[in-house]
Amino acid sequence: MKNESVYDKSIAILKENHVRITPQRQIILKYLINHHNHPSVETIYKALEKDFSNLSMATVYNTLRLFEDLNIIIQLPNKDGGVRFDFFGTPHFHAICENCGKIMDIKYPKYNQLDQELQSITSDQEPDFTPTKSKIEVYGLCKACAAKLKQ
Ligand code: ZN
Ligand code: MN
Repeated sequence: MKNESVYDKSIAILKENHVRITPQRQIILKYLINHHNHPSVETIYKALEKDFSNLSMATVYNTLRLFEDLNIIIQLPNKDGGVRFDFFGTPHFHAICENCGKIMDIKYPKYNQLDQELQSITSDQEPDFTPTKSKIEVYGLCKACAAKLKQ
């Protein structure tokens, strides 16, 4: 899908949920669609503050929470205890380096099937629990860290 239609789709989700389309929300959404670096709140803020002087860290943070609630983006754990964010237009899972925290996208065409399966197993075992989504992370060592730790 082209980035423009991905953007329009996300804007449609915001409108469906009666979220006001503010310039701040638009630029943060565009940043997330165009950057697959799994940014932190600070990274997004630093990238955008030069061009949008009325943007605050709090606005970035609140916007990310909002997008996460609407399943437009997902939150990922980070080594330093902080969190990273990721646009989730194409469902995928992540390989995360246990040593340096590097996050890599792993595309999997049957991701939605797997997600459904995990949710139905969960519902079977915990009937009072309502699953909404799952996030899959595979931990290991990246190439650079594996080489470093071998020495
Ligand atoms: Zn690493
Ligand atoms: Mn990702």
